[in-house]
Amino acid sequence: MAEAPKAAAHLQRLNNRYSVPLGGMKTSAPTTGATHAWIGLGANLGERTAALRQAVQALAALPGTCVLRTSSLYRSAPVDAGGPDYLNAVAEIATTLDAHALLAALQAIEQAAGRERPYRNAPRTLDLDLLLYGNQCIATSQLTVPHPRMHERAFVLLPLAELAPEQVSPEALQAVSGQTIALHDGPAWLSAT
Ligand code: ADP
Ligand code: MG
Repeated sequence: MAEAPKAAAHLQRLNNRYSVPLGGMKTSAPTTGATHAWIGLGANLGERTAALRQAVQALAALPGTCVLRTSSLYRSAPVDAGGPDYLNAVAEIATTLDAHALLAALQAIEQAAGRERPYRNAPRTLDLDLLLYGNQCIATSQLTVPHPRMHERAFVLLPLAELAPEQVSPEALQAVSGQTIALHDGPAWLSAT
């Protein structure tokens, strides 16, 4: 991670509007009643990029759901844990699933990717977090939205700022500017073979 740029410096080089080729996936929004949501994707075990690609495909295959855009791919060291570096990205979806149904679907995709939870912050084959669900605030025993730790994490805020800069304040970016994070691949990571 020695070559990794600091978060704030890297953000200045970001082009906020990417057009990502999502070959073969649904990219048009469902007709009525769809909510835009942002999903944080992470993996630090196994074939990380392949797992994230499969996760995006799985999101696009959910009922009433399409993937609108995906961010660049970032690399960061685990927070409060050991293990290999994470690869992280954010996907913007439109979905007719309600927030709890979407969370259940995210957990099913994690399970299918071999996710295990032996202890808190354990290394993982796939982590899917519901960052934002429209402009809703949700607090139930299963689900908190906006995600309660998203503003502490450069690996969430930088890719989210690519897709939705209006959702990430300068103050939030400043607060994570000391975290070390590297751009691992541009937005074409999703379609590269
Ligand atoms: P981590 O916080 O490290 O991502 P997990 O992925 O194991 O941990 O999630 C732990 C629990 O967090 C899940 O069982 C889920 O019910 C809960 N949770 C609460 N809010 C959210 C959210 N916005 N997105 C994903 N999981 C959430
Ligand atoms: Mg999670």
